[in-house]
Formats: sequence, C-alpha cells, structure tokens
Amino acid sequence: MFELPELVTLAKQMNDTLKGKRIRRGQLGNSPHKFVWYNRSHDQFEQLTRGKTIGDVTARGRWLFVPFEPGYVLLLGECGGKVLYHSPGSRIPKKYHLCIRFEDNSFLTATTQMWGAMELYEKGEEHNRKYIKGMRTTPVEPEFTFNYFSTLVDDLVGEKKRSVKGLLTQDQIIPGLGNAIAQDILFRARLHPRHPIDTLSTDQRRALYSAIIETVREVIGKGGRYDEYDLRNNRGGYVRIMDKHAVNHPCPECGGKIERMQYLGGTCYFCPDCQK
Ligand SMILES: [Zn+2]
Repeated sequence: MFELPELVTLAKQMNDTLKGKRIRRGQLGNSPHKFVWYNRSHDQFEQLTRGKTIGDVTARGRWLFVPFEPGYVLLLGECGGKVLYHSPGSRIPKKYHLCIRFEDNSFLTATTQMWGAMELYEKGEEHNRKYIKGMRTTPVEPEFTFNYFSTLVDDLVGEKKRSVKGLLTQDQIIPGLGNAIAQDILFRARLHPRHPIDTLSTDQRRALYSAIIETVREVIGKGGRYDEYDLRNNRGGYVRIMDKHAVNHPCPECGGKIERMQYLGGTCYFCPDCQK
C-alpha cells in the first residue's frame, strides 16, 4: 500500500511528466475488480475527461489529487499497486483499473492491489469526500509541530486505550502513515508497538515526534519504499530497517534478535531490547 512518502513521490513525478498534457481519452478499468471504488460510469468518465488538461498534482495523507482542468479533479487514494507513465509508443498493459491517454500518445495507467479509490469530482467536491473532509494535519505540513503533536496525544489519552502503534496507524490520526513506515518510526523512537500513549513521558513524545518527521523526510528523499514502485516503474530507494527480512537478524543498534508479532491488524517487527 502507498503511504504518504510514495504519494508525495508520485505527485512530484506527475508534475514533472504529466502537467500540461491534454487528455484524448480517459477510461475506467478493463478488468473488473470489486474493490476498486469508482463514482462514475464508463461513459460518464470518458465524456467528462475528454479534452481536459492535467494541472498541478498534490498529495495529502493517502490521497493524490490530480486536477483535470478545467473543472474536475481525479482522486486516487487508499490504494497500493502501480500508477505508471508510459511514453508514446509503449504497449498498454493488459489489465488496468484506469487509463488516461494523452494527445501526444503517451498515457497513464493505474492498477490497484487490494483496493483503492479512482474517483472523479467536480472541482471543490473532492474535499467533501469521506476521509478527506476534516482530515487532520499530515506530517509534511508546517503545522505538524511538536506542540500540535503533543496536544493531539493529550486529546486522545482520555478517549480510549490506545498504543503508539494505534496512534500511528489507526483512524487517520496522523494521515498518510501506515503499517510499513510505522515499524521504522517506532524503532527509531525506541518504543514498543504496544506502549500505551497515556504513559509516554515528555522525552518519549519528543522522540516519537522526531522519529515521525525524520522517517517521513528520509523516505520521501529516497523516492519511497523499496517495496513500492514509482511513476516510471522503478522501486523506491528506502529499504526498511524493520520488515520481514529483518526477523531473526541482529538489530542494527544492539545486535539482539529482531522479532515479529501480530498486533492491530498487521505484523509488527521490532527489537525487544531496544523497544521495551
Ligand atoms: Zn536492538
């Protein structure tokens, strides 16, 4: 699944590659997939996208906003898989969930893994979509300060029992983070995934905040995670410290054995010595 750094990377590449291109034909998927969320019929999508021009693409949380100017915005979100640019003369992939052909004969395809939204909104309406309306501050925004983060934790403490992994991965509390990047954030902050947020000391809050900022920045700087692909079908450059390949191998910090456990709807990888 794409997390914020992969989407920031895609948005940047789309701006370098697609911005200003005019759409000859926009099509929804040729391969039925019940977990792809569309909000238009095939005909409607073709009709509404024809002749539109790609505007300035942005990423927020787990969503990509692709303006089809004038008047529309394509939303790609909550998805994994591949969003690919194909230069003129390339062969169209056999299966796709979205294909946008441009007047210069280049094209864009999107194919999700698992699930994902591919929805076309009248400009402005995209902000009313569930999960986008009321989205909290994301870690790449200047407003995501330590004060903001600490107040967020204070607000959540009274609400229900929540662990640091829950803080990072549940309920869109910190939009754009997911189970993959959370592993390295918790390792860098030296926190066990089950550590309850109501017992975080000020130092631990600071460590967690810094780990979020630094990890997100580093993954973006490296063009996303190694297990995801960018617009040109290249893997990202960020190799995770804590993932399935690390299990039973020595921790880079203390040399202890890295372990795995199932927790909160996903596998956690952690060092039991560094992350007590
Ligand atoms: Zn360790």
